[in-house]
Amino acid sequence: MKKVTTIVSIFLIALLCLHELVHVSSSPFLYASQLCFQCRKLKQDQEQGHEHAQELHCSRERSRAARKVIEEYLIPFMERENYQLSTKCRLHPENDIFSDQEEHKIFIDRHEWRCGYCKKSFREEKFLDHHFDNRHYNLLNLTHGKCLADLCGAMHCDAVMNFRSSRSKCNMAAASRNRHLCESLADNCFPISEGPSAGRLHELFLHQFCDAHTCSGKLKPFSRGGKDQSSFFRLAAGALILVLLPVFYLFLYLIQSDVNGRTQELRRISKAGWKTKPS
Ligand SMILES: [Zn+2]
Repeated sequence: MKKVTTIVSIFLIALLCLHELVHVSSSPFLYASQLCFQCRKLKQDQEQGHEHAQELHCSRERSRAARKVIEEYLIPFMERENYQLSTKCRLHPENDIFSDQEEHKIFIDRHEWRCGYCKKSFREEKFLDHHFDNRHYNLLNLTHGKCLADLCGAMHCDAVMNFRSSRSKCNMAAASRNRHLCESLADNCFPISEGPSAGRLHELFLHQFCDAHTCSGKLKPFSRGGKDQSSFFRLAAGALILVLLPVFYLFLYLIQSDVNGRTQELRRISKAGWKTKPS
């Protein structure tokens, strides 16, 4: 029976360790810090600034961060609902002046980026960005109100860009403005009147992006998780099964052998009992 207790303890410890692993890694902020390398690069890019982008009053880097937030934390849920955004929604790719240029970025490897318009190669993405600003500026869709970066306040771009220190003081007026913008995005992009899918996505949008616009600090953005987190959970579940399955079989084996041992012992006792009875 001692063996069984030991195995049960191992089983419980393994379960607790894996639970901690899943719990810690599920934080969206941890995920943001994992993107540190990319954040630093984005920071560098922003510090350098781009002449034309400044003329436009639309930051390419912040637009990219907004697109990243949309792709990570909204698109997976829209795909599940098979929902298509209307072009009236400001999150629609058509309403991002940089979307066409971004689609013309060809990633060969870490040290090679190619321009999809003229096929010129660059060592880093930021050089390709400069090239787009200088050579293909005429290809930007310059319609007013198509700057995705303008939605950054509502979409929590800073969380993926790791810009603002979490210790910086919360501005109540800014939080309320961002919340208002966020709710108007939810209303325009997922009108409840459109049906149950739009209704579900409307609610998700509020939880995922708008609820965190408070100064209480209790609610974090992206509370419903994102693309990489779901794949992480699948990985964690796989690892959990791989670790626990052998332990489980070992546990069963030990119980079985313990039971067999006891039955043999009982048989011996009963046989001895039969033999002693006649005397
Ligand atoms: Zn080019």
